[in-house]
Amino acid sequence: MLQFLAVETLGLYLQVAFCQTKCTYCNFHTGVVSSERFAPYIDAVCKEIVHHVELLAAAGVHWQDQLAIDTAYIGGGTPSLLDPQLLVRLLAALRANFHYCGDEVTLEADPETVEPEKAAKWVATGINRVSFGSQSFIDDELKAAGRMHRRDDIYRAVPVLRDAGIRNISFDLIAGLPKQTDDSWRQSLSEAIALSPEHISIYMMEIDEGSRLGLEVLRSGSRYSARELPSEEAMAEFYELAQTELRSAGYEQYEISNWARPGFASKHNLKYWRREAYLGFGAGAHSFSGQQRWANIHDAAAYVSAVNSGRSPLEHVVAVTAELAFEEEIFLGLRQLSGIDLSRIESQYGVSLGDKIKRLSASGMIECQGDFVRLSPAKLSVSNEVLVELLR
Ligand code: SF4
Repeated sequence: MLQFLAVETLGLYLQVAFCQTKCTYCNFHTGVVSSERFAPYIDAVCKEIVHHVELLAAAGVHWQDQLAIDTAYIGGGTPSLLDPQLLVRLLAALRANFHYCGDEVTLEADPETVEPEKAAKWVATGINRVSFGSQSFIDDELKAAGRMHRRDDIYRAVPVLRDAGIRNISFDLIAGLPKQTDDSWRQSLSEAIALSPEHISIYMMEIDEGSRLGLEVLRSGSRYSARELPSEEAMAEFYELAQTELRSAGYEQYEISNWARPGFASKHNLKYWRREAYLGFGAGAHSFSGQQRWANIHDAAAYVSAVNSGRSPLEHVVAVTAELAFEEEIFLGLRQLSGIDLSRIESQYGVSLGDKIKRLSASGMIECQGDFVRLSPAKLSVSNEVLVELLR
């Protein structure tokens, strides 16, 4: 008998793995393809939605198909690139195949792709939140990162979204872009705040072999402005400045990378950190049932071919053992500013963390309040040290 994690609702993630160009720092599995491939891809995602119960069963996933969908997230990639009619089709497939209440329906959008007619159609089909890839307000930084948009596009797009009726906008900003300085970061932060989005996500630049920029840095090259990256110390200072500025502008930090005005924390993303159930559709989409985690094939063409020939598009399925569940509780729980419920976790997993908690608390890394333990707000940028200690 399957046990879900005390949830009655389900989040749905829909992956659109296409972009106009590849940003230099991007380590996602997204591709730049001809727009002729968009419609066949969306048809395949709709097919996966219609046949999800059989496709999951064929891949050995046990799925309890009775939960109501309260959040949907169309991410990518750049889903705002698509003809809005394709998004209408996608959301119609959800409505026809799930008990769908669509309380929070997010679309990821890049500034240069936002147009009034598109935005009106997004709202008409039930999209009520836009996660906006602003990244920086400095053209030199946007150019160096290979972004398609410029500062002016952000100023043009935000009123278009507001006029269309979007009352919940989230901005993404990246701390650590090539050419970024203390002054330019301060400027990006203050321009973002002045536009008054309901939600702001700050991501720290990741340097790894998954991106062109990362590879260039690892090879000590100079392409993609690789030698103009801010230092790690500077990035930590950018993060701390964001904490201060956003707090004084009335944003509450609820997760390591996320701040919101009261009532605007992302309901969908909270499901990931709270280990609630979600189902992902599309190439590379991930899912979690409480008992298993699984992911689809990343390659969009291989995904479309699998679904069209009636094969399961799943690439791997992992059983969530008690040990894995415990690690997830610590790792995901500590990302949230509300922290983890220590007594629940200790009794559920039969562990005792008391001595480690005392040590970490004495060194100022964590704070304890009743049964709850959380990272000290001033130590969020060094959270890995705490995780390593608790999971040892
Ligand atoms: S828009 Fe986003 S997903 Fe697309 S290439 Fe740039 S960073 Fe990657």
